[in-house]
Amino acid sequence: MNYARRCVACGSLFHPLSHVPNQRYCSAPNCQRERRRRWQRQHMRADEDYRENQHRAQASWRARHPDYWRQYRATHPAYRERNAVLQRERNARQRSLMVANMDASQIAPPLASGVYILRRMSEVRIAKMNACIVHLTVLSPPGGSPAPDCKEMM
Ligand SMILES: [Zn+2]
Repeated sequence: MNYARRCVACGSLFHPLSHVPNQRYCSAPNCQRERRRRWQRQHMRADEDYRENQHRAQASWRARHPDYWRQYRATHPAYRERNAVLQRERNARQRSLMVANMDASQIAPPLASGVYILRRMSEVRIAKMNACIVHLTVLSPPGGSPAPDCKEMM
């Protein structure tokens, strides 16, 4: 028979079970619930500490190996090439967005005013394609001085 000890939750005396020599909570349901609650809280805190440690360790590793990515890129041409392709795609997308976002007055008109047929470049070789008839009015001549509100663009 083990000696009686005090439950750390309710403070009453109990006899620890023979197969749980370090038992600290009596077997009352409330005290067992309390034991599980404390256990979970402790583990959650341990997890947070763990994640924080991982984060710190990674940051300090990066600080100690500033050349790692440069060397990685230097020794992995496929990785470098793929990155370059992705960057070119991003740049192209950015450029076409910028053109789309300009208003017409900000693009130097290369043509004279008149009626034009407007077609999508990608559809030029398709026999039956969509075409718009548009009237373009040139507001400043090709090569001429831009409108005053275009100065920022030049
Ligand atoms: Zn208890």
